[in-house]
Amino acid sequence: MNRKEFIKRSTALGIGIPFLSVLLESCNQAATLYPNFDVNFSGNVLVIGAGAAGITAGYILNKHNIDFQILEASVEFGGRLKRSSNFADFPIDLGAEWIHEDPSVLAKLTSNPNIASSVDIITYTPDTVYTWNNDKLRKRNWGGNFYSEYKFKSTTWFGFFEKYMIPNIVDKIRTNSPVTEIDYKANKVKVKNSNGESFEADKVLITVPIKILQEGNITFIPELPSEKIDAINSIVMPDGLKVFIEFAEKFYPDILFTGGFLTEVFASDKLFYNAAFRKNSERNIMGLFTVGDKASVYTSLETDEKIIEKVMEELDTIFEGKASQHYQKHIIQNWSREPYIQGSYSIDFANDPETTVANLIKPLDNKIYFAGEALSLDNGSTVPGAVESSYATVETMLAN
Ligand SMILES: Cc1cc2nc3c(=O)[nH]c(=O)nc-3n(C[C@H](O)[C@H](O)[C@H](O)COP(=O)(O)OP(=O)(O)OC[C@H]3O[C@@H](n4cnc5c(N)ncnc54)[C@H](O)[C@@H]3O)c2cc1C
Repeated sequence: MNRKEFIKRSTALGIGIPFLSVLLESCNQAATLYPNFDVNFSGNVLVIGAGAAGITAGYILNKHNIDFQILEASVEFGGRLKRSSNFADFPIDLGAEWIHEDPSVLAKLTSNPNIASSVDIITYTPDTVYTWNNDKLRKRNWGGNFYSEYKFKSTTWFGFFEKYMIPNIVDKIRTNSPVTEIDYKANKVKVKNSNGESFEADKVLITVPIKILQEGNITFIPELPSEKIDAINSIVMPDGLKVFIEFAEKFYPDILFTGGFLTEVFASDKLFYNAAFRKNSERNIMGLFTVGDKASVYTSLETDEKIIEKVMEELDTIFEGKASQHYQKHIIQNWSREPYIQGSYSIDFANDPETTVANLIKPLDNKIYFAGEALSLDNGSTVPGAVESSYATVETMLAN
């Protein structure tokens, strides 16, 4: 089974992101750089959204000296790449965290062969693995042999983009600029934001999360074709949450599966883990990552106070009160409540993924283009997938 087939099958099973690499290990290959391409376009481009896909688009457009601007709805660039710099003594990924691929992918994402060797990477092979199943805590340390992931040692996904992609394009990103309307009936595309400002461009690249398109937060004039609307609506982007808690003592393992090992390692969507594992830190920081129905249990609660209460109750049950005994502080990132994200990532397709993605990617009148994690067949759901979809779409966009 190749990587593409594997991801297609595993997303159909609802496999949580951190586990992909366990099984991808056998299909992992050192990444090669994206090839150069010809440019036959000299107009201007508006990119909507400054997450991994939008930043990448700006990075490539800048390299090809194309006139562009990025309109980002929120106060900061990054989207589902988000960092907390002051919670611990190392930066924490509040969104994407695992690299999921051979770290040589970092050179590929930036089209810079020297980058991978200048970034410190942790191999996340846990020493201690426990399961909490049928109200029993069991040691499954042998499970560490089946788990292998990569993470940044002293930076984050956000920090990686900030250092290697943002510097040349930061002046082109306009934050606090939520796009509400895209009118593509005339020669030039007219874009409006919620501040009442208008912009014009020859081409527009839309990289907002699929949920934002499903919710109809952007009005298209004329309306999008029905096959595109159907494709957008057929992708499942469920709830997503991350919580980090600092404890005075490390009473928990490097990985805690909430279920049986075999079912969880293949199809888990909730994981407690040692977020300080192999970082330069003596602090005890536990992470909780959860997506899908298991995440909804928390994200549907009205307040962050209720979320942390629920998490602490669970941990106290599992670890016999040690969580409350050693609790110091926490931070919660409820992705479902982020107004410009509204969930985790695309996890499943109601119809054939290839047809769905082909319908989504198809440009409209050579003026409107789409990119983002949901549009990557090979690496959907992930940062590398978002980047890859941008390289492919920008190449198509600049071809004519
Ligand atoms: C909890 C969680 C854990 C994850 N873990 C990992 C991981 O370990 N590894 C991994 O590779 N991936 C992980 N991912 C997935 C990864 O974060 C995403 O696949 C990737 O960051 C998506 O990039 P994107 O550019 O497609 O979308 P986004 O990052 O969502 O960017 C879209 C941008 O559009 C903006 N926007 C929305 N509406 C508008 C509008 N109307 N006008 C203007 N701008 C707008 C948004 O504010 C956002 O900045 C995780 C995601 C979550 C939520």
